[in-house]
Amino acid sequence: MREGLQKVVSDDETIVAIATPPGRSGIGVIRLSGSECLKIASQFWKSHSRNSTLQHRNAAVGTWNTAAGEEIDEVVATFFKGPNSYTGEDVLEISAHGSPVGLRRIVETVLGAGVRLAVPGEFTLRAVAHGKLDLVQAEGVRDFVEAQTEQQAKVALRQMEGSLSKRIRPVKTQLIDVVAGLEAGIDFAEDDIDIPSNVSISRTIHDLRLQLEELKDTFGFGKILAKGLRLVIIGKPNVGKSSLFNRLVSAGRAIVTDIPGTTRDVLMETVHLDGVPITFADTAGVRKTTDEVESIGVQRTFETVSEADLALVVFDGSADFDDDDRQALRRSADLPHVLIINKVDLPQVIDARAFNGATRVQVSAKTGMGISELQETVRAFLLSRKTDLADDSILTSARQYEAVSNATAALNSAEDALASQVPHEMVLLDLYRALACLGELTGEVVTEDILDRIFSSFCIGK
Ligand code: GDP
Repeated sequence: MREGLQKVVSDDETIVAIATPPGRSGIGVIRLSGSECLKIASQFWKSHSRNSTLQHRNAAVGTWNTAAGEEIDEVVATFFKGPNSYTGEDVLEISAHGSPVGLRRIVETVLGAGVRLAVPGEFTLRAVAHGKLDLVQAEGVRDFVEAQTEQQAKVALRQMEGSLSKRIRPVKTQLIDVVAGLEAGIDFAEDDIDIPSNVSISRTIHDLRLQLEELKDTFGFGKILAKGLRLVIIGKPNVGKSSLFNRLVSAGRAIVTDIPGTTRDVLMETVHLDGVPITFADTAGVRKTTDEVESIGVQRTFETVSEADLALVVFDGSADFDDDDRQALRRSADLPHVLIINKVDLPQVIDARAFNGATRVQVSAKTGMGISELQETVRAFLLSRKTDLADDSILTSARQYEAVSNATAALNSAEDALASQVPHEMVLLDLYRALACLGELTGEVVTEDILDRIFSSFCIGK
């Protein structure tokens, strides 16, 4: 078993869970994993055919019965002999009718026979423990199950199949070679062995760092893909933010009024664009206010803006550009933004010089004019976030990003150390740190904290 996992995975416990969602369905699947599977089957499962033993990868029809021999349901039992199973242990999958009562009764029979209920993600955790999947692949499994769009599912599938792990492997191997070279140089300093020069070691490390940097950059899009693009609409009161929001989400959610300052909270709505979930947040108008409730709204606006990936900054083309507009412009300066002149259906009075030549999208939330162009602009922003790697192996979780960033930083400091002729022992410390970070990424080095972060977000039965 993988190092560090003995504590959390106990081989002598067999676990059970209903693997299909709660509620009535065509079929419902109960999954067991652990050494007791066959024993459990022999106690409660009766084959319809004369040959009553379960064979590896064979689906067999029979009945599931209580300990007293009363039939609960007619089921198909499929047995997988470990290590050739999802978890690497013996696995029994019972496909029963999708009756919540029936499924519960089946689970009760096995619980009565010493099997315990699985916690969320425990089957996948066991797969990791037995080397069937690495941690990145396990995250892929979770993301695949959670995917809301086709694009998310595609990326998760590749991750589940190991594309990211494959990308990391050669970096790790080369890093180990460098470490071995340096260690040999230290151990056999007296002997006449060939030690690569600082320059050549530095070049290799530099090259490895660039590869990791490239991977790190994929998180820009990976994050958007995983969590969705957070798009925030800002602007002073009454410029038409709510109307625009409604246009964009095609729903009458935000309350549109012509009294300034009516949007006092942040409204959120999610739509999909090119397979990426986009969350629009309509915010309270940005302006100085004395109204207490409104000022809470303005405060929330600032929080939402700081978390956003893209801001749509709205101005009223039919009115003068004023200090409140200037403040909205300033608020969005630190993040990618699109400037929008709304109300182009009215006579235009806004002074274009205020924008210093920055590109603006002209729209009318009222008539719908320019809305498709605005959607195109958002799409272009999304595409600009995609890297060449985006369809292959990308980082999709903060955990992965942290591990790769830390490895990159360690390599960076190794490069610096080499450049300043620091003894190789010190350089090695950085390289070992980089290796540990990569090990953490794929799961050779695991801590309970990391396992918690990953598996707490799984569903039961997976
Ligand atoms: P918010 O305070 O920025 O959210 O602004 P609202 O969406 O509540 O709109 C304020 C007022 O402007 C409402 O009376 C809207 O009907 C009006 N309005 C919004 N967009 C347009 C537009 O494109 N053209 C015109 N003529 N009026 C608009």
